[in-house]
Amino acid sequence: MIALLLGLQQGFTKYCCFICEWDSRARSLRYSRKDWPARKFLDPGIMNVENQPLVEPSTILLPSMHLKLGLMKNFVKGMNQGEDAFTYL
Ligand SMILES: [Zn+2]
Repeated sequence: MIALLLGLQQGFTKYCCFICEWDSRARSLRYSRKDWPARKFLDPGIMNVENQPLVEPSTILLPSMHLKLGLMKNFVKGMNQGEDAFTYL
């Protein structure tokens, strides 16, 4: 929904984050690179932006439950799968 409001490409996007310039296809950098540069503009034709944004990006509030679930997913993925804590979960 956020992508739709901001004019981002809907599928198969390389730069799908509206906050930063995270490259979703750089699989070797996943879970290792932590600081991606912030997205400074939403100009059509550049970095998977197709249309002019309908709302100001600073007015978008992210749902906290969605963020918590994403953090827990990454936490579980980072756990050692042979440990008792992982099998308990
Ligand atoms: Zn991002």
